[in-house]
Amino acid sequence: MSDKKTEKIVGVKGMNDILPADAPLWELFENTVHTVLKSYGFQQIRTPIVEPTALFARGLGAVTDIVEKEMYSFTDTMNGDELTLRPECTAGVVRSVLEHNLTYDSPKRLWYAGPMFRHERPQRGRYRQFHQIGAEAIGFAGPDIDAELILMCQRLWDDLGLQNIRLELNSIGNADERNRHRADLIAYFEKHVDVLDEEAKRRLHSNPLRILDTKNPAMQDMVNAAPKLLDYLGDESRAHFEGVQKILRHNNIPFTINPRLVRGMDYYNRTVFEWITDQLGSQGTVCGGGRYDPLVEMFGGKPTPACGFAMGVERLLELMKANGDQLTPNQCDAYVVHQGEEAQLQATVVAERLRDAGLDVVLHCASATGPGSFKSQMKRADASGAAYAIIIGEDEIAKGEAVVKEMRGTETGGSQSHVAFAAIPDYLVDQIVGDDHDHDHEHVHYHH
Ligand code: ATP
Ligand code: MG
Repeated sequence: MSDKKTEKIVGVKGMNDILPADAPLWELFENTVHTVLKSYGFQQIRTPIVEPTALFARGLGAVTDIVEKEMYSFTDTMNGDELTLRPECTAGVVRSVLEHNLTYDSPKRLWYAGPMFRHERPQRGRYRQFHQIGAEAIGFAGPDIDAELILMCQRLWDDLGLQNIRLELNSIGNADERNRHRADLIAYFEKHVDVLDEEAKRRLHSNPLRILDTKNPAMQDMVNAAPKLLDYLGDESRAHFEGVQKILRHNNIPFTINPRLVRGMDYYNRTVFEWITDQLGSQGTVCGGGRYDPLVEMFGGKPTPACGFAMGVERLLELMKANGDQLTPNQCDAYVVHQGEEAQLQATVVAERLRDAGLDVVLHCASATGPGSFKSQMKRADASGAAYAIIIGEDEIAKGEAVVKEMRGTETGGSQSHVAFAAIPDYLVDQIVGDDHDHDHEHVHYHH
């Protein structure tokens, strides 16, 4: 019993801690994405992580990887509700848009970010908790918004300095077109039933389109020669697809048409696209999206066309790392070191005034072994990456001033000055920004 209590509890398999060392890269990524989304007029929406299970069962389709085997579903034993940790966010966003009648006056450009949950086999680029940032344009019917979403992604890759992400495009038409194709596809697969694996056999009559998406190498040749949905498109679907391509060509966005590209969810129609890199092994799809005109009606709303995408944050971050993006951990402007009770009190005041001036300041605080010697505190100051150490001891208290010591950029250790307590903020801001800059102490943070 007592042994059990002290045993270490480890995190859930496939669900990762994002540690401080990685935080700057996440922050850079998220800030860049937010800026790009804003520059296209997209507004953020935040929906709950838990939704009614029925939302996904109905929205995603019963015969999809997610609904068949990847959902974290549970019964809330407090009231019997059937709930699911969201495996994706489109269903939740559409639910919310309907619930709050968000598109009553005009179409909406929305975006979201956050963790998603799928019970998959954990491997590189595939986790059970992972993060997506996505955009949903709801109420837009034309090919212009499809192209805009794609242009927005391209701008994001450019701003992140990511090359080698290629665009694959397809149109999966409307339900009628898919039904005609489907009949021919089933007939074709039935002729090749000896090549089908168990999963494909199971999907043969329920969701044959998904068989085209198989990753089984033994089925590739057979699947390559299958009837192509593109050949079944009617005039309207074809015109829409050509409209998207025209805008992309006009904006010099390269793409290839992949007639086998279908997407995992049932609600897609017409345009589907994926951004793929070869730099990440088999988990190379960093972003997927498309049009989902039927979804709003499936959720009980008025027919409302829509289009969106979701990108996998972990995969994009891995790509950034592969491209050599290593950010140094957050560094601060000053580390405040103190010895003695009065010095400690004064140090808290000095640190607060420096923060008032917009500086990032770490105040030395006691650990389990006490506040530590002057020498050990200076070691901490060094390790913190601070540009300056501010030193307050008994002598300094007596004189009403602190020692301000330059920590970096010099091999012999930097110069040091004695500065009156009240003058430290101005002194440091001048040192860091330089006298010749016109600056606003209240609002600028001085990062390096
Ligand atoms: P895959 O075919 O790789 O399973 P998917 O079609 O299930 O992908 P989507 O539902 O379209 O993926 O999700 C959009 C993006 O989210 C993917 O392109 C990928 O970058 C990312 N993603 C999906 N599932 C995971 C996961 N389990 N772990 C990490 N990222 C994921
Ligand atoms: Mg999947």
